[in-house]
Amino acid sequence: MPLNALHRDLVRRSVWIAIYLLFILAPLFALLAGALPPARDFWTEFSVALGYSGLAMMGLQFGLTARFRHVTEPWGEDVIYHFHRRVSLIAVALVVVHPLILLATGSDKLAPPASLAEVPLGAVFAMLSLGALIVLVVMALWRTRLKISYEFWHATHILLALVAVGGGLFHMVGWGFYLADPLKRALWIGMTIFWMALLGYVRVVKPLFMLRRPYRVAEVRQERGDTTTLVMRPEGHAGFRFRPGQFGWLTLWGSPFKITGHPFSFSSSAEAADGRVEMTIRNLGDFTSGVSKVPVGQRVYLDGPYGAFTIGNPADMHVLIAGGIGITPMVSMIRTLADRGDKRPLILLYGGKDLESLTFREELDALAKRIDLTVVYVLSRPPEGWTGERGYIGAEVFKRHLPPRYADHEYFICGPNVMMDAIEAALGEMKVPLSKYHSERYSFV
Ligand SMILES: Cc1cc2nc3c(=O)[nH]c(=O)nc-3n(C[C@H](O)[C@H](O)[C@H](O)COP(=O)(O)OP(=O)(O)OC[C@H]3O[C@@H](n4cnc5c(N)ncnc54)[C@H](O)[C@@H]3O)c2cc1C
Repeated sequence: MPLNALHRDLVRRSVWIAIYLLFILAPLFALLAGALPPARDFWTEFSVALGYSGLAMMGLQFGLTARFRHVTEPWGEDVIYHFHRRVSLIAVALVVVHPLILLATGSDKLAPPASLAEVPLGAVFAMLSLGALIVLVVMALWRTRLKISYEFWHATHILLALVAVGGGLFHMVGWGFYLADPLKRALWIGMTIFWMALLGYVRVVKPLFMLRRPYRVAEVRQERGDTTTLVMRPEGHAGFRFRPGQFGWLTLWGSPFKITGHPFSFSSSAEAADGRVEMTIRNLGDFTSGVSKVPVGQRVYLDGPYGAFTIGNPADMHVLIAGGIGITPMVSMIRTLADRGDKRPLILLYGGKDLESLTFREELDALAKRIDLTVVYVLSRPPEGWTGERGYIGAEVFKRHLPPRYADHEYFICGPNVMMDAIEAALGEMKVPLSKYHSERYSFV
């Protein structure tokens, strides 16, 4: 990526951060504008400010997860989801601390009513919102431990978020005080409708668009390592262009209105003809286990391209580091450079259990003869007589295979989380600046 592109990314990041802060802070400051109700004690006002901030942060989560390409591109989807998780925890903490402060200061707002019928509606909504938030956080943090399927978790996550934000708004409106002012009330109600409309955009508008742009499975190819490649062609439209390393959301069974799509990197060359795209999918769970049985001719839906994991920065050499199914974005990069006749040197460090698990092995060996590509296989369970690298990819493997000016190369890492953490740590030790390495994590949650 030329320098002006790097600057453009920096400007885009700064603009989006400014917009994000504006959306959080402006509605808070708006509460202080114009005529104000009589001031209450410091702790009450402080606790109320926390409640409002928490709601604004929660509402904006709908924007973060709305898959707006312009928003996510400067960072990469995994970073956005990571941010989403962290900000959610902060927002929930603010919302939970809000009544705790009132409780600790003995506020009369929390005094028990004489009978259930006298519980103010504002308080009922507060409890509903808080309850939904607590369940949402517990399910998000401990989904796998609670053995909740991804699909069920995803659907309830959206529902709970709607109840939490909707309940929060009704609580504020019901309580009046700042929102007794009709203009301020209209602002917060309008903002909540806007947040929910963002969800409507992802769940209704985008699927409608995808419905008109279906794909057909043209070929189902079995690959090494319990892995299947789906070759998909656009039906009645030109498809989209992607950059090698990017990914898309695949809906295989059912309509694009289905709540859960599955993300997969494109494994084909970005130069493939007729809008054809390929995804190479390893059998790892209930959805992926069905991929090898997909019939040719099946109609599927693709939402993409997404992601910032792509070649482009100036570098003397691109170092691609793949573990397991993390080979898919790398093979797309290699195929694309080969199709473009690109002469830049590439080195692929590819870790796997054994030779049988190395998807695309034969093709990679063939490509290494055509372009300036060096492939180094690193096997954790090598066969007898194996003379290549064994164990795991790390600093020692880098030192044996990379030219020593390590900080001049551009690194791409994709594989299991534990491998990626180890490699990022090794690159840090080798004084490779953070700006020189790019990661694609296959777990958003
Ligand atoms: C950006 C990205 C690119 C990916 N590219 C590839 C690829 O090229 N090839 C490949 O084989 N795999 C890829 N994956 C991983 C793939 O999406 C998951 O393995 C697959 O969705 C698991 O589905 P399952 O129901 O078979 O497994 P399950 O056993 O149900 O899920 C296993 C784990 O995968 C995650 N997961 C499940 N469903 C989803 C979902 N809908 N969205 C996000 N995460 C989910 C969850 O953390 C879950 O615990 C990629 C993931 C991401 C985030």
